[in-house]
Amino acid sequence: MSTSPKLRPGIWDALVALTVAVLAVACAWTVWGGQDESGALTAVVSVDGVETERLALEEAERTIQAGGYTLRLRLTETEVWVESSDCPTQDCVHTGHISRSGQSIVCLPARVIVRLEGGETVDTGVDAVIG
Ligand SMILES: [Zn+2]
Repeated sequence: MSTSPKLRPGIWDALVALTVAVLAVACAWTVWGGQDESGALTAVVSVDGVETERLALEEAERTIQAGGYTLRLRLTETEVWVESSDCPTQDCVHTGHISRSGQSIVCLPARVIVRLEGGETVDTGVDAVIG
């Protein structure tokens, strides 16, 4: 292990604290998972495997155009669903409402995935800070 003179001990303390915090949050999520927690969820829209949008859950309508199809996405503070779509299979519409982290709506013809994620994900962007 090379020791960088730039690193102060305080950073590592913070790193350990952050790790503990992340683990605590992860555990909490596991515990809360079974309940209808409508906390800070984010709808993550991916097109062709590439994340294109992150939408906070609030009353809103979004039009997603991908693969030659148009999906009308509806959001409320607790749910997300595809209200209508001109894709041939309509699977995305039939999926109905999703309201929990980890659930997703997939539209294969348009290659669109709408996935719900817990809002407070602590990204370990520590490396960027140190570098
Ligand atoms: Zn569809």
